[in-house]
Amino acid sequence: MAKYNIAVIEGDGIGPEVMEQALNVLGALGGEADWLSVEKLPWNSRYYLEHGRMMPEGWKEQLQRFDAILFGAIGDARVPDDVSVWELIMPIRKEFRQYVNFRPVRSLPGIRSPLADGEDIEFAIFRENAEGEYSDSGGRMFRGEPAELAIQNTVMTRAGIERITRAAGDYARRHGKTKLTSATKSNAVVHANKLWDEQVARTVRTDYPELELESVYVDALAAYFVQRPQSFEVVVASNLFGDILSDLGSGITGGLGLSPSANINPEKDFPSMFEPVHGSAPDIAGKGIANPIAQIWSAALMLDHLGEAEKGKKIVRAIEQVLAEGKVKTADIGGDATTAEMGQAILDKLAALPEKG
Ligand code: ATP
Repeated sequence: MAKYNIAVIEGDGIGPEVMEQALNVLGALGGEADWLSVEKLPWNSRYYLEHGRMMPEGWKEQLQRFDAILFGAIGDARVPDDVSVWELIMPIRKEFRQYVNFRPVRSLPGIRSPLADGEDIEFAIFRENAEGEYSDSGGRMFRGEPAELAIQNTVMTRAGIERITRAAGDYARRHGKTKLTSATKSNAVVHANKLWDEQVARTVRTDYPELELESVYVDALAAYFVQRPQSFEVVVASNLFGDILSDLGSGITGGLGLSPSANINPEKDFPSMFEPVHGSAPDIAGKGIANPIAQIWSAALMLDHLGEAEKGKKIVRAIEQVLAEGKVKTADIGGDATTAEMGQAILDKLAALPEKG
């Protein structure tokens, strides 16, 4: 039995392409023999077309025995997006209580931000990942008729808001951050977002009194991300707001090909899942040109979570060195390197790094 058993779901589109590079990097890291064992699970849109479901019936029991899940991307034109999302990603996030979606946003050496003054961006987004706007509560009536209507309920709970605020507060404390920014829209979404504001404020006041809390309407916050991104340290947001803000965060620092994320169950009752912010990118799938960095970085976040912070740091250092050098760049960041060439460049840097530190 290996020390860490990892389930790998490559998924669709560029998922398998970028995953191959992430697995090469994990395989190249030193450690006692058998420190990491990887099992691939073939759950993707092709699996759905063959079996009529995204995952087998016993998926929960099957996945639960792993220490972590490394996930690629899901999405294929032959399967409606709501099926692939609601039958694969959502059940894993919700059933495994992965209520924290951690998305670091930072400028990187050698990568030009589209912002004139975007060099020193470094903040973290804590997106609530298990409730909020992404709920299947609601329904549709009078389909196809002029009177057709849809109702979609947002579900927010005091407990859910408190635990994501605590995750953000704990991170702020661990990293010596002094300010927490809460994304809200309580002037318009008067029930759910007022509860959000009240509970975020209560949690900070009671448990993190050293933190300065600023509550900002999400539309204004989007503008501030562009105008003064350096002023943010830790951002806490609901499921939908956090999703949009993290793509914006990725856009201002160099794009989706560089942005990792972690779906975390902080109590460690269930495995956590690590995946790039990007999706299956069907426009470039099969061409071998996707940037594998977001996926490789997600593997580094996984190692951090497993308690192998030193190994995680080494991966990030190797990525930074490749980017700083600027010789190997994929198309999304202004070069013409292939996915495999970028993976190899990171492997080469990794091999040249000292064993410790
Ligand atoms: P999905 O619906 O699965 O999220 P999508 O194509 O709508 O897929 P993304 O996959 O997130 O959205 O990406 C949007 C675009 O960004 C892609 O079409 C692609 O051009 C680009 N992109 C995303 N990820 C990468 C990557 N790793 N390397 C290079 N380009 C990328």
